Amino acid sequence: SDPVKTFDPSETAPRHNKPHVARKRFGQNFLHDSGVINRIVLSISPQPQDRLIEIGPGQGALTFPLLRAAKRLTVIELDRDLIEPLRERARAHGEIEIISADVLKIDFTELAAGGLLRIVGNLPYNISTPILFHCLEHAAVIQDMHFMLQKEVVERMAAGPGSKTYGRLSVMLQLRCKVEPLFEVPPTSFTPAPKVDSAIVRLIPLSSSEQLSFDQGVLERVVRAAFAQRRKTLSNALSGVASVAQLESIGIDPRTRAEQVAPAMYVKLAQLLSATMT
Ligand code: SAM
Repeated sequence: SDPVKTFDPSETAPRHNKPHVARKRFGQNFLHDSGVINRIVLSISPQPQDRLIEIGPGQGALTFPLLRAAKRLTVIELDRDLIEPLRERARAHGEIEIISADVLKIDFTELAAGGLLRIVGNLPYNISTPILFHCLEHAAVIQDMHFMLQKEVVERMAAGPGSKTYGRLSVMLQLRCKVEPLFEVPPTSFTPAPKVDSAIVRLIPLSSSEQLSFDQGVLERVVRAAFAQRRKTLSNALSGVASVAQLESIGIDPRTRAEQVAPAMYVKLAQLLSATMT
């Protein structure tokens, strides 16, 4: 039978007396739309054996619906005022581990303890990119990630060469994982409503055989320089980083622009530069 049951919105209603005032500095926009919540849970399709980690559970809008299917769940929440209400509600809902901490300080490899994690979260938009890259540092222990992000960020993550939104984020992310935008979510699904549209994205880290090898620092330097001046030709943008001859030697037209170069070509360039540096 289907492990994902239809979710009753009354379950997310906070049962404690003091209403929580959403904190802007923690990027708090709480989901209240049960249709969206159900769609997210269905997309994740939690299984009883999964090691699910939720970043920023807030008042539990996703936490408790997820827990019905997942059996156990670890949540990481920065706002201390949200911990006690979560703990209270958690008592009635299976196995939940609450970590009161900044997710950027969490060592996911240690948390995984030899297993694989499935990470989910309606992320605080003000720090969504640092959170993404923090997770990617631990990609080897992550099965998949499902995140709610600003729609525009999801577009940039998924964009390919030639697109206006293709940039550093697209390259750095696509070299490490498969990016699947799932669906959009309007501001009216949250309280308070954010000023931007949102979207759900699924990220699946590439396996070691799919992953191209490159020196992270060199690649970052190349990609940063290339896109810092995206209107210029690549040879101009990369002057001081790579020569015209070097670009040509790996089949890149020096007159092309950063936004036309595929992620794998940036890797080729980084590999060449790493080799000539040593
Ligand atoms: N999951 C809830 C929901 O969907 O209604 C809340 C989502 S809200 C957009 C983001 C949550 O992340 C808030 O609960 C916020 O306090 C928490 N948060 C913000 N910064 C964080 C950090 N550095 N580490 C862990 N949680 C954080």
